[in-house]
Amino acid sequence: MTGVDRLGRPLRSLRVSVTDHCNLRCRYCMPEEHYVWLPRSSILSFEEIVRLVTIFEHCGVAKVRLTGGEPLLRHDLATLVRMLAAGPSLDDLALTTNGLLLADQAAELRRAGLHRVTVSLDTLRPERMQAFARSNRHADVIRGIRVARDAGLGPVKLNSVVIRGFNDDELGDLLDFARTEGCEVRFIEYMDVGGANNWRMEDVVTRREMLERLASRQGEIEPVAGDDPSAPAERFRLADGTRFGIIASTSEPFCRTCDRGRLTADGHFLLCLYAETGLDLLTRLRAGASDDALKQEIQAAWQERRDRGAEERSAVAERGALYSISALRADPRKEMHTRGG
Ligand code: SAM
Repeated sequence: MTGVDRLGRPLRSLRVSVTDHCNLRCRYCMPEEHYVWLPRSSILSFEEIVRLVTIFEHCGVAKVRLTGGEPLLRHDLATLVRMLAAGPSLDDLALTTNGLLLADQAAELRRAGLHRVTVSLDTLRPERMQAFARSNRHADVIRGIRVARDAGLGPVKLNSVVIRGFNDDELGDLLDFARTEGCEVRFIEYMDVGGANNWRMEDVVTRREMLERLASRQGEIEPVAGDDPSAPAERFRLADGTRFGIIASTSEPFCRTCDRGRLTADGHFLLCLYAETGLDLLTRLRAGASDDALKQEIQAAWQERRDRGAEERSAVAERGALYSISALRADPRKEMHTRGG
């Protein structure tokens, strides 16, 4: 076990980015046409990912979420899932996806041992997806959600990033859709990660505003008690029992309970979504470091962790995009799609 970091937080959960590529161009995440991609030769192989995840498990990690970029673009992802699921100690093996390729892969991923999926769904209107993410494949996402649910990858969670003037008039509709489909929606406050999105505070719809708007349409809302305090979403219940979550990373950050590390597709261990740099495990691993040596480096990094990036960002008075485009081009690991959302 790793013990706790400088703020008393254990290492329990790991987000593993399996690719920095994506088949959407969401305006809030990856709006540019072309990016500086991680060199192919530096992308972790499945064997390398499994080896590192196993070491992380020995450091206390019990929850792994595969992400990206778009993880379903990684060729033969089910094989990686099968390899990870064969390990002894994961309580939770989940995947975050935009859903475009999910209908085709859900059953195989389930058979391989994936426990559940979270699907990004920001709008129920195909024309908005076209304008905002440059894709006309809205129907594929909806189909993916249904196929995943029916394949047993539930409860399927839906992630909706709420942005003023784009989809903030759809909160109630997204909640109704989730209820009808037997899913649970989590409304995410727009975050100032990366930089190409030209983030502005005016575009953020805060947790408080979301709750006010939802209460005026849906009636009484009460918090759900007894959830895991380290989970990013705060959960609520409507009078009819419908549950939903809000991830208030921007207006009410929850760094104090953050037990998540991140592994980039090229093997850098990040202690925080906002971390400037990470521990280069790839170079160490390919230079022949033993499992024990890697474990000690991971543990030492975690024990020194003081990161509370979202809280520090919320203390910035004149808050704008985190990085300039030139800074992102010089170091693609600063991009959200590279570090894994
Ligand atoms: N491609 C996958 C997907 O779309 O779910 C996984 C990667 S994506 C980076 C992971 C999550 O990060 C998505 O739910 C996405 O909506 C969220 N995300 C990306 N940029 C964000 C931002 N600026 N603020 C809040 N959430 C963001």
